[in-house]
Amino acid sequence: METNLWEKYKDTKEVFDFCDGYKEFLSNNKTERECAKFAVDLAEKNGFQNLQTLMEQKKTLKAGDKVYAVNMDKSVALFVIGTMPFESGLNIVGAHIDSPRLDLKAKPLYESQGFCMLDTHYYGGIKKYQWTASPLALHGVIVKKDGSKIDFVVGENDDQVVGISDLLPHLEKGPEKKDEINGEDLNIIAGNMAKVDAKDNKFKAFILDILKEKGIEEDDFFSAEIEAVPAGKARDFGLDKSMIIGYGQDDRVCAYTGLMAIMKVENPTHTVCNLLVDKEEIGSVGATGMHSKWFENTVAEVMNLCGEYSELALRRALNRSNMLSSDVTAAVDPNFTAAFNPATDAHFAKGISFNKFTGAYGKSGANDANPEFIATLRQKLDEENVAFQATEMGKVDQGGGGTIAYIMAKFGMNVIDAGVPVLNMHARWEITSKVDVYEAYRAYVAFYNIKIK
Ligand SMILES: [Zn+2]
Repeated sequence: METNLWEKYKDTKEVFDFCDGYKEFLSNNKTERECAKFAVDLAEKNGFQNLQTLMEQKKTLKAGDKVYAVNMDKSVALFVIGTMPFESGLNIVGAHIDSPRLDLKAKPLYESQGFCMLDTHYYGGIKKYQWTASPLALHGVIVKKDGSKIDFVVGENDDQVVGISDLLPHLEKGPEKKDEINGEDLNIIAGNMAKVDAKDNKFKAFILDILKEKGIEEDDFFSAEIEAVPAGKARDFGLDKSMIIGYGQDDRVCAYTGLMAIMKVENPTHTVCNLLVDKEEIGSVGATGMHSKWFENTVAEVMNLCGEYSELALRRALNRSNMLSSDVTAAVDPNFTAAFNPATDAHFAKGISFNKFTGAYGKSGANDANPEFIATLRQKLDEENVAFQATEMGKVDQGGGGTIAYIMAKFGMNVIDAGVPVLNMHARWEITSKVDVYEAYRAYVAFYNIKIK
């Protein structure tokens, strides 16, 4: 099952072409809202209909139809209706579209030492020092009291960025480590010019005037979601261009590949679903996270339009489903081999990585996938000539992580973690191998068509 994929793909054109599209996606979509919008636009171009519209128009759905639903502009579920009844289960590929970043606070603006500053609260697991002394962009949305929305993006195509200063090494006393930066000290410098005729807070007043030109008042930040993310595009990585470096590949690499794969599904036997959710990085909480009832409610609505809804049928559908919790895993890093067991951890260029379990310290918190389910997957992937690796994430007792797998497993369905190996996971710029990205896409295409036993 484990082969070096650069041997398999001697002609790299199909791999590189697919990854060009992926790089463009990464460069243009750096928030969950932007990713959700990308998914909806792509779905509509490919014949998916909006569930909400169908419900309002009292339309029905039948086998072969394609439908999507959006939750608060931050998570999306796409379905292709199968010929078998829902009760026989769905094939689901689920990824998350939120990534670690710095969120602006609800009252971000203040001034200090002749600068106008933006106060932040970091989101997800980050090494704080990585976010200083480098260009940042601001992406997000501001909702005015009248409900109108202002899209706010600074720092991508406008040759203008913001950022957080860092202390000169000569002034760092003692052996203090840089990663001991306090969360409260991650403050973005917004400007240094003063509004001459302002009575006080001249530096803040200058920036407020700039914001006013965009229709934004200071109080509007309370009803806003503005994220500071690394500025710039995803790029080829390595002298051989065999890899991709980009922000937010955890987990947009699995989001993109799962989404592209469902676009290829026509007339499936079982209904298939691609699920793109928010808030995984902070515990899958909130109305747009996996713990929310939204997914269950959405399946119920889709079943209803198919004329198949009953409480019992819904329970059976979810219980009999198969799912790939498509999330990334840590690849063995040549610079940090001590954290890994190279014999059992994921490597670049060996294909999609299956973690039978994640968790930490004695599998705690893990979804431990069933061997019966894994056997079915092995059979299908071998049949379709998809390369995969059976892995863990890091040495035993080194640490660990979680995904949305255990949440979906609560329905009683079969779930396994399956995703692309990543170097520098949760760093500002993460690295993947192009062949693994492409092989994940092929694995998801194969999985959507798997027969549920
Ligand atoms: Zn993730």
